[in-house]
Amino acid sequence: MEYEAVIGLEVHVQLCTESKLFCSCPNRFGATPNENVCPVCSAMPGALPAMNGKVIEYAAKLGMAVNATVNPESRFARKNYFYPDLPKAYQISQHEPPICSNGYLDVDAGKGVRRVRIARIHMEEDAGKNIHSAQDNASYVDLNRAGTPLLEIVSAPDLRSGAEAAAYLKTLRAMVMYLKISDGNMEEGSFRCDANVSIRPKGQTELGTRTELKNLNSFKNVQRAIEYEIMRQQDVLEDGEEVVQETRLYDASKNITMSMRSKEDAHDYRYFPDPDLLPVHVSSEMLDIWRAELPEMPLERRARFVSQYGLSEDDAGLITAEREFADYFEDAVSVYNQPKRIANLIMGELLRELNQREAELAACRLSPAGLAELARIIDQGLISAKIGHDIFPHLFESGESPEEYAKRSGMMQISDTGAIESAVDEVLAENPKEVNEYRAGKTKLSAFFVGQVMRKTKGKANPALVNELLAKKLS
Ligand code: ADP
Ligand code: ZN
Ligand code: MG
Repeated sequence: MEYEAVIGLEVHVQLCTESKLFCSCPNRFGATPNENVCPVCSAMPGALPAMNGKVIEYAAKLGMAVNATVNPESRFARKNYFYPDLPKAYQISQHEPPICSNGYLDVDAGKGVRRVRIARIHMEEDAGKNIHSAQDNASYVDLNRAGTPLLEIVSAPDLRSGAEAAAYLKTLRAMVMYLKISDGNMEEGSFRCDANVSIRPKGQTELGTRTELKNLNSFKNVQRAIEYEIMRQQDVLEDGEEVVQETRLYDASKNITMSMRSKEDAHDYRYFPDPDLLPVHVSSEMLDIWRAELPEMPLERRARFVSQYGLSEDDAGLITAEREFADYFEDAVSVYNQPKRIANLIMGELLRELNQREAELAACRLSPAGLAELARIIDQGLISAKIGHDIFPHLFESGESPEEYAKRSGMMQISDTGAIESAVDEVLAENPKEVNEYRAGKTKLSAFFVGQVMRKTKGKANPALVNELLAKKLS
């Protein structure tokens, strides 16, 4: 029997507002426990929520960016459950109607573009965090995160593989970062996802029983967890058994999913409208203003980079995948108008350096103007591309002017004919056998001579001059 996988994703995006959703506490990661807490977000009796308008703007902007309807009226609802990190014993969320409905994202997982429907986007507050200490044999509650604003983005069950799910998430993350509504940091939990997975015989329209996967904190883990889960469900069906609807936890170290809780103890959230909050109204005038503020989105920018700068689709895709990179590229090009050279330095040197250090672009001290200068001095032959490569780590770290650094450390290319000529003479004198062989017709030895001269000049000789002088002296 051939099966088809069906996947729907629920994504939580932590918004980068100044303050929390219903109080004026700072919305900041990494503060000391319970530093950013007030009567509202710690659920003191009688404390009343007051809506942060920025959250409505961010939700509407994301809604427009994913082609959704921004509903003129939506409501907050109480979602009731008991857990120590939730002091009110209910989470303020949205049920019906949410702020946005019926959007879609076009996703390319390498097999052509597919349209993935987005069922809804709603606003809600985050819970706090429990910290369990084995050392103290105690659990602590940190409410800094309680009441911080989230958007939940729920896809239709339109995804068909782990790779497609990862591509959808990458596209969505790039969008929230382009919109500057979230820092998208997956490790700090600013962008997290639960995956609902089921399988069905190919050709069947009815959905199979799904499991919900949690603890997926990187694109790679999302993909691997889904792939594992599809295999597991196939094995279950092939053994003549049935998939149990349940929540499963992904263990990245073992690359397996494990049952966490079954449907029997599934929650009944008893949603009801929050009587402390007014319905949310979004006027068409407000929407027009926000629509006009939408930035160019990743796919549009990619197309423009191809037409305006002559980059290949792949290169343009890589550079526009993150807004910071695309901005860096355009800033550098505005200083030195050689887009392909700049793109090559970004994709070669800069990306390699970032990967090696597992760092974000913010860690790079070399400014776009600095990178433009590096491109220029390579093009002008002041340093070789090889030297550019060698000094890049230093430039990355120090942010120093490439030209000044190359001068100061004696890396400037030697374009002085006299100096190169004496190096060439020495090389020829030291290798009489090769000189004779060359003159007898073994011309591919010229690479050997160039290599020797480069060695003598520590890679600094202008290669064009070296070739010219060698040709003259060997003829
Ligand atoms: P719940 O009310 O349990 O949260 P929803 O209907 O809101 O369920 O769906 C949650 C997510 O699960 C959505 O992303 C949806 O696309 C997905 N989903 C629902 N049914 C299935 C299924 N049978 N297989 C895979 N994904 C599913
Ligand atoms: Zn507060
Ligand atoms: Mg749901």
